[in-house]
Amino acid sequence: MGNVTAIGEITNFVHGEAVEATGTDVVVVRNPADGSELGRFRDSAAQDVDLAVRDARAALPEWAAKTPGERSALLRAVADAMEERLDEFARLEVLDAGKPWSESRGHEVPGMVDALRHFGSLARVAVSQPAGDYVAGNTAFLRREPVGVVAAITPWNFPLWQAIWKIGPALAVGNTIVVKPAENTPLSTLAFVRMAAGILPPGVLNLVNGTGGTTGRALVAHPDVKLVSFTGSTRAGRQIAEAAGAGTKRLVLELGGNAPVVVFEDTDIEVTAEWLAATALYNAGQECMAATRLIVHESVHDKLVEAVAGKMVSETVIGDPMDPSTTLGPLISQVQRDRVRRLVDGVPARAEVVTGGSPVERDGYFYPPTLITGVEQTDEIVQSEIFGPVATVQSFTDEAQAIALANDVEQGLAGSVWTRDVGRALRVVNSLEVGNVWVNAHMASGVELPIGGFHGSGYGKEGGLAGLDEYARTKQVTISLT
Ligand code: NAD
Repeated sequence: MGNVTAIGEITNFVHGEAVEATGTDVVVVRNPADGSELGRFRDSAAQDVDLAVRDARAALPEWAAKTPGERSALLRAVADAMEERLDEFARLEVLDAGKPWSESRGHEVPGMVDALRHFGSLARVAVSQPAGDYVAGNTAFLRREPVGVVAAITPWNFPLWQAIWKIGPALAVGNTIVVKPAENTPLSTLAFVRMAAGILPPGVLNLVNGTGGTTGRALVAHPDVKLVSFTGSTRAGRQIAEAAGAGTKRLVLELGGNAPVVVFEDTDIEVTAEWLAATALYNAGQECMAATRLIVHESVHDKLVEAVAGKMVSETVIGDPMDPSTTLGPLISQVQRDRVRRLVDGVPARAEVVTGGSPVERDGYFYPPTLITGVEQTDEIVQSEIFGPVATVQSFTDEAQAIALANDVEQGLAGSVWTRDVGRALRVVNSLEVGNVWVNAHMASGVELPIGGFHGSGYGKEGGLAGLDEYARTKQVTISLT
């Protein structure tokens, strides 16, 4: 079993072995908590991508021919191996992505083990139309087959989590996969692939490191890649969709979010504020479903603002993400912090920054919890995915206006509605143009439930049976009875 600590040795991984990339650009990986270098690697050029994809292609027939039970057992063995190394994986995520230890070790890494077990179990579940004599004189049945070599391209905000949510279902169905982690967070995914190399057959799970512009593009364009599963920005998702279209490849696109949170006057303000502060700040707000746009009935606007701002401050401990008491770590990079700062600094004079609003004075890329009122629908901060520990507040007078504000953005990933009125809750649920809705909760989700967006947030599902089906193709077989 490979070494789990990848720092300083960031390579590609092909056919169960470390392979040096040959690209000309060198990428430096930094710890966002202090800016220090964790390692560096060469971009993977088209030939490096080709090596990894061809190897995955060669491994496909044998992996696809395994029984669901055999694939399930292997995925569960990988989960068992990971469970023995929870601390090591959590440490890599904390160093590389700046996640608080309490979140990473507390539930994210254990949640990844659980997700792998779930996908391993799903490998054995077959739900489909029964065989039957649908055409006179013929019997027909459906075969579920793997699509082929899958390319998984992942973002930096949940590096290994996102990789596992793609690797798990892709392998469960019998595909082989080449993963490209985000260039600033390769460590945990590489460690995982190394570990899994002691369990999975060579070539089933390969990894290439590199930038989106070089390595990502080469992966999407490779003729042997039959499905691209991408999580990242709407901008990159559109580029990928265009490139994949040229090769008529299948796509799963999990893109940016900009979640509306509709709060009616009959909600428990303290409980609601507790949820909203926590889900606006989780992962320093670098969470595609974060509670970012609070749309609040005018009669409880001031009360809710005061409660959320209060909890944002009183329940946040900013500090070294390795410290178990830290709840808010840094943003991923200087670029990301500058982006958040620009959006906040650019709010019109009518807006009020109730708390936060300027970067924390310490090494690393920290930004404080920030709540802004007085924004309007056309403001850039409302229309953009902020991806920082920042929420905005707008007020409404009636249900129709609340729904109009909630839906009037490009993204459609997630949202929530807060009311004790069941009929009203359901009307809002039915009207929201998002793929995931909560009532009196936010970001409560499990791996059994498919996640995915509408509109600019992409298409396709991850998780649950719907997520598994994304990685399968259906073949209709009809046999004459004569
Ligand atoms: P990004 O789009 O910049 O990069 C994501 C990945 O795509 C990286 O691996 C990058 O190298 C690669 N990439 C970039 N351009 C590419 C191209 N043209 N061809 C191929 N690959 C390319 O996104 P990011 O900044 O790393 O991640 C943050 C984004 O991810 C946010 O918008 C967030 O909302 C989104 N996200 C969505 C979900 C979801 O489930 N919908 C989950 C997590 C994150």
